[in-house]
Amino acid sequence: MRYIISLPLAILPLPLMAEVPAVVTDIPPVHALVSHVMGDLGAPVLLLEKGADEHDFQLRPSQMQSIAYADVVIWVGRELTPWLDRALEGSAAASLPLLDASPVLRSYDEADHANESDADHDAHVHDGLDPHAWLDPKNAAAWLEVIAADLAQRDPEHAAVYAGNAARAAAQVMALDGEISASLARAKPRPFITQHDAYGYFTAHFGLAYAGALSAGDAAAPGAAHVQELQAQVAGGRVVCLFPEAQHDPALLTQVQGGSTARMGGALDPVGSTIEAGPAAYATLLRGLAQTLADCLNSA
Ligand SMILES: [Zn+2]
Repeated sequence: MRYIISLPLAILPLPLMAEVPAVVTDIPPVHALVSHVMGDLGAPVLLLEKGADEHDFQLRPSQMQSIAYADVVIWVGRELTPWLDRALEGSAAASLPLLDASPVLRSYDEADHANESDADHDAHVHDGLDPHAWLDPKNAAAWLEVIAADLAQRDPEHAAVYAGNAARAAAQVMALDGEISASLARAKPRPFITQHDAYGYFTAHFGLAYAGALSAGDAAAPGAAHVQELQAQVAGGRVVCLFPEAQHDPALLTQVQGGSTARMGGALDPVGSTIEAGPAAYATLLRGLAQTLADCLNSA
């Protein structure tokens, strides 16, 4: 008789346990921040695969399924990943776009494209919101709090764990901020050009001399007039380094470099498409950018 009574007792506690939310994330830096907040409670899914372009990505059926089963999708926003915006339209998952919670927001500089033809000009995003907001550590620190608050609302039993994890991770981001600022001290006044217009947050925050980008913020091909304008800038000796990107052909950037004294730096990786996903990915990404920039700019 005794075992009949003990059986339901063994089964009962399970439905009473708190449900840790199923979370899907867009890109490695957001995945890293959510991983910090969830800690040992769970692991978020990362959609963007290694080597992929954040602006142009094709979801696989299994990834569509992760979105369908998610309690919440935590992502930068539609300005960065229109492919995820489309996927979310037909989904019941809650959506937490972090751009809506960013203390630092910036727009693309319209002047960068002043010499384009109308056709070039209309062909890509301009004068809109720059979505590469994770590159400012202030935004990352704020997002940790926003993520913890969202998860606490879905899973109140673990609210203190989420808040504690977020506070610890935010302190790490602040320490990283100081470390990177110091590592860029010599590089700060030296002008450079990048492959696509993704670095405004990073360069504004750390006080770097960003002289422009070959492609617009959505990584679309540049117009001929814009390429000529950059070429003239580089030929005039006003640029110290040009930086290609991990996922893009550097041929056009090499053409801009021409026979000038400007040097070609290492490939930048603003979205973390080449690094191992996980909690450490945010720090690895920022340190990688700073190191690649300093390597070329300091040796000039
Ligand atoms: Zn981008």
